[in-house]
Amino acid sequence: SLKLSTRSDQTGDTPISYFMQQAVENPNLISLAAGLVDPGSLPAEEVRAVTNDLLGDPRTAQAALQYGTTQGYGPLRDKIFQHVLALDKLSPSNVAFTADDIVVSTGSQQLLYLLGEVLLDPGDIVITEAPSYFVYHGILSSLGIRTLTVPMDEHGMDTDALEALLTRLEKSGELPRVKLIYTVDYFQNPTGLTLSLARRRYMLELARRFSKTQRLLILEDAAYRELRFDGDDVPSIKSLDRENEYVILTMTFSKPLAPGLKTGYAVMPRDLVGPLLRFKGNHDFGSSNLNQYILDRLLGSATYRQHVQHLREVYRAKRDTLLTALAEEFPTSSSALRWTTPEGGFYVWLTCPPEIETGPESRFMQACLREGVLYVPGAFCYVKDGAVPNAEARLCYGVASHDELREAVRRLGRAAHDVSPMEKIRMPAFAGCRG
Ligand code: PMP
Repeated sequence: SLKLSTRSDQTGDTPISYFMQQAVENPNLISLAAGLVDPGSLPAEEVRAVTNDLLGDPRTAQAALQYGTTQGYGPLRDKIFQHVLALDKLSPSNVAFTADDIVVSTGSQQLLYLLGEVLLDPGDIVITEAPSYFVYHGILSSLGIRTLTVPMDEHGMDTDALEALLTRLEKSGELPRVKLIYTVDYFQNPTGLTLSLARRRYMLELARRFSKTQRLLILEDAAYRELRFDGDDVPSIKSLDRENEYVILTMTFSKPLAPGLKTGYAVMPRDLVGPLLRFKGNHDFGSSNLNQYILDRLLGSATYRQHVQHLREVYRAKRDTLLTALAEEFPTSSSALRWTTPEGGFYVWLTCPPEIETGPESRFMQACLREGVLYVPGAFCYVKDGAVPNAEARLCYGVASHDELREAVRRLGRAAHDVSPMEKIRMPAFAGCRG
């Protein structure tokens, strides 16, 4: 019989397969589950123009269609360097990293995986937010990592609780096993919430203070940062890490441009670059070179900036449509549903009263499938290191059209009325984040 590796036995099916199957079985389903980008604003013309240019000239065509380097196309890394600095309004002299500390990858997902391989041994501990990005939890479980979680509120990860956890781990002698703190710190997947500046500073201070036998690193997954449409920008944790020692910043072109180009990048402490590249060498010795040439052209012109500006308007309008529909369907006076108000990205986190459980087997989910609407059950976004809340849901307004968003909320409303009379007012978690 087939004998798989231990790691294989630890590797679960991603919950995404469940949603794919539902979508295939129910063609009329409106999915607020898939975390995809707005299809209508994908930059087809822009990508076509630069691709034509590149392939029209035999010299660039041959270079772009040849293998590239493991670390990534130099001119693109230079532009990413400038881009990352510009986001934090910094100049090269303000930071301890250069384009040499940047690695281009096949989506930022590849980096999350490779960083796991390069930094973590089975039994090591990674601290994440509760709830957090479920695909990352999948990587950790596959690698045999212990994931401990810290609760969040509307200002992101509760850093006092993080400090308490680290103190407890130090007392029990487990601190040497704690390698990473993982945070999705802008418009988090799944809650849409952003880590406050004060907590960014505090998290970095904690990483420094609890770096005893080894460095405790922060993995800052800023996948959605560029898609801010409301409120003031907050500096990256990376920008506060003036020695380029404690923070690995990962970002991606999937959200601000096109997931089909599947290109991400990281800025990391210099002593991590070499070890990471050895793993990446084994994986693929370099991400798609053509895609990197395309991105280099786009980033080097005004096209990229204009496109991101346009996307911000697209997603703001979609968020508004979803939140307005929710407020009409579930008025405060008659329902105890609560939801977050994201200032960017494309996720809203819904907290239902306890009688509306949201799990895949729940009456509410079954009612939603009958009505034709799908969401991500909140429980999917938690690690089972304690009680898992089961009355929450992630709603994505990225893919659905405005009409579909309104219709999806009507369907959610009918499903909710099916399972609950909705007159009880209770105060669930995330109270105060009401839209
Ligand atoms: N991090 C987060 C928080 C994400 O939501 C995603 C995509 N859903 C990724 C990383 C990976 O995206 P990609 O590999 O396309 O860059």
